[in-house]
Amino acid sequence: MGGGAAGIGAAGAARQADPGAAVTVFTEYEDVAYSPCGIPYVHGKEIPSFEALFLQTKEAYVKAGIDVCYETRVSSVDTTRREVQVEGRGTVPYDRLILATGFDYADPGVPGGDLGGLYYVKNIRRAMEWDRVLDSVKTAVVVEASPLGLEMITALAHRGITVHVVDPHPWALAELADPDIMRPVEESWAEMGITTHFGTRVEAFLGEGTVRAVRTTAGEIECDLAVICTHKQPNARLAAAAGLALGSTGGLVVDERMATSAAGVFAAGDCTELPHGVNRVPIACLTGSHAYAQGKVAGTNAAGGSRVYQPVYVPWGMVAGTWMVGGASFGETLATALGIPFVMGVADGISRARYYPGVRKVRVKLLAEPAGHRLIGAQMVGGEGIKERADFLGVAVRTGITLEDLATMENVYSPPIGALNEPISVAAQNALASLRR
Ligand SMILES: Cc1cc2nc3c(=O)[nH]c(=O)nc-3n(C[C@H](O)[C@H](O)[C@H](O)COP(=O)(O)OP(=O)(O)OC[C@H]3O[C@@H](n4cnc5c(N)ncnc54)[C@H](O)[C@@H]3O)c2cc1C
Repeated sequence: MGGGAAGIGAAGAARQADPGAAVTVFTEYEDVAYSPCGIPYVHGKEIPSFEALFLQTKEAYVKAGIDVCYETRVSSVDTTRREVQVEGRGTVPYDRLILATGFDYADPGVPGGDLGGLYYVKNIRRAMEWDRVLDSVKTAVVVEASPLGLEMITALAHRGITVHVVDPHPWALAELADPDIMRPVEESWAEMGITTHFGTRVEAFLGEGTVRAVRTTAGEIECDLAVICTHKQPNARLAAAAGLALGSTGGLVVDERMATSAAGVFAAGDCTELPHGVNRVPIACLTGSHAYAQGKVAGTNAAGGSRVYQPVYVPWGMVAGTWMVGGASFGETLATALGIPFVMGVADGISRARYYPGVRKVRVKLLAEPAGHRLIGAQMVGGEGIKERADFLGVAVRTGITLEDLATMENVYSPPIGALNEPISVAAQNALASLRR
């Protein structure tokens, strides 16, 4: 159930594990195998067309022996009888079921939520329709500076639209990133003409038929469009109705084989919750790359193979304003909120040799256990090279690398791509120096 990254990953892996298996995918949408991640960049005109986001043709699935049922909703699951109810088709039996029903954006829960002009970015066909609407939009409100919010803010600004950001938190991406990491981003937004309203709640969407303004705790903002970028929530409604165990996040509880609490039922992607590798706190609604990898594990196991999925360390990164931000595992704010003790080192370095054109600043923060100095998290802001550092630091946390290891690491020095001093190493040296003081 589900034709997103998790469902399609699962279908392919199931066929690979058992080429004789009959694999059926049900999706409510008109398409599978497109990258929703690219939608904001088509809106921002960095990518010329939506067609570029399609990764496979529908015929490719027919050839691969996967029966994809488009625009087909599953309405209930019976794990005792091993069957699902499919709208327009009736009862469909299964030997193994994989739930990959994804996420929903949190309902803003304010009056006017049913007005036109409220855009929830998800389905590519709707995005194509909204893209035409954007041609006539002069002012837009982005509700919450979440990861998608950050992408849409920049996209709409690139499009020449006047953008207001309304967010109840004190800074952008506050549930994930530290304020000093986000400060350069917020400064770049101001330079781009974007107006931010932090510490501000949406009270209502106003208009007749279509939104004409957003009423907030700090006053009214006139607009032609509101993009709802509230946090993602697991879509596990059918699983809950079928009696499957959900965790504290509302996501499906799975074991390392991605098996749920019901025999023969697996789950993958944003509808599940997985333990964080450092402290085992469950996290739901990770990313597309997590969803795809989990789908492959679930699909393999459902078809009789054997694979396990590891706890997560969540490397992340994205372009925001004129900067890139990223990190791995916990930042300072989140570790403090969770009561995790840490020592910290910060370095302000550069991305290339200081004389090489295009050199950008890079700020790296490392968090480590006070005893033993094992890395537990990192955050960064810079002009380039953030993704590679985030991936590396995710593995560093996972494998128990210490500040001492990082302080003495070797690094690439080549003027166009790397400076003499790697900021990660300098941050580790600074952390150790602060411990000696
Ligand atoms: C605009 C946008 C930008 C993104 N950017 C990034 C990015 O930069 N990096 C990244 O890693 N990830 C990104 N993502 C990925 C995203 O955040 C999720 O992690 C990912 O989509 C999760 O995949 P999934 O397969 O679990 O669920 P979803 O993609 O939500 O897919 C759920 C599927 O379930 C189907 N479904 C649900 N209920 C039913 C039912 N009852 N019957 C039949 N079918 C049903 C839906 O039709 C859909 O096919 C982005 C997503 C969006 C929308």
